[in-house]
Amino acid sequence: MIQDIGEGKLDITYERRKPRAGDRLLLYSYKDKEIFLKKFEDGRVSVPEYPACGEVECVFLFRISGIGYYTVLSEKAGMGAEADFAYEKLAVLRRSASKELRFAGATGWQLYKWYMDNRFCGRCGAKMGFSERERAVVCPECKYTVYPKIMPAVIIGVTKGDDILMTRYRGREYKGHALVAGFCEIGETPEDTVRREVMEEAGIRVKNIRYYKSQPWGFEQDLLLGFYCEVDGDSTIKMDKDELSEAVWINRNEIEEKFEDMSLTNEMIVRFKENGYGGE
Ligand SMILES: [Zn+2]
Repeated sequence: MIQDIGEGKLDITYERRKPRAGDRLLLYSYKDKEIFLKKFEDGRVSVPEYPACGEVECVFLFRISGIGYYTVLSEKAGMGAEADFAYEKLAVLRRSASKELRFAGATGWQLYKWYMDNRFCGRCGAKMGFSERERAVVCPECKYTVYPKIMPAVIIGVTKGDDILMTRYRGREYKGHALVAGFCEIGETPEDTVRREVMEEAGIRVKNIRYYKSQPWGFEQDLLLGFYCEVDGDSTIKMDKDELSEAVWINRNEIEEKFEDMSLTNEMIVRFKENGYGGE
């Protein structure tokens, strides 16, 4: 999955650390959801190294394998002079062979977006400052403190014997099959969300809800929690036509393999195809 980056490991510990030569710059365009990178013919990508882009006001994000990653809090950092680099859609990362950068780019986007969305205090409107001791922005006027935003959501493999409930979402870029999914609402446990989302999207009751794995998904500010569960009673699908364009039972022998190693959804689908319910 996206967070599995081989030998490298994400160290998210917050540091008041100045960039050093060889550190990486993750530069984004907020409005266009783009990242500044260079593409290679073999599918790899790279981002600028500090101080290749000259002296810029950098904000520390995290480290991977000892290398610091920084961003610039600008709507679109002006780095046009760098040879061979260009702004590309964040989705380019998903197809990239550079696993470390794929994860760094998505995680950096989540932090960059949070910083950009919290430049002013939500209580009194003053300009926010940085906390000295942790990753937070603090209002100098009213002391309101804002921590990074993570939105928990569930991915749900609903099964019925050798069938799994698969969906297609309306109005999304991604046209392939997905699993039922949705955000946790305030006051819910993730298991409550599982029951509610399957009922809302497919009109089905579920039982035997079991946690599988989780995944940070910075592209959409999410923390995804994967669950498998079984139909409880009537398995007739009553689809939510506002949200979905399709909701169907698909036998595991008819699931088309997808060759991607990034998403929890895909891992859950492939695992069911190969092992059946639960996989044990
Ligand atoms: Zn304030």
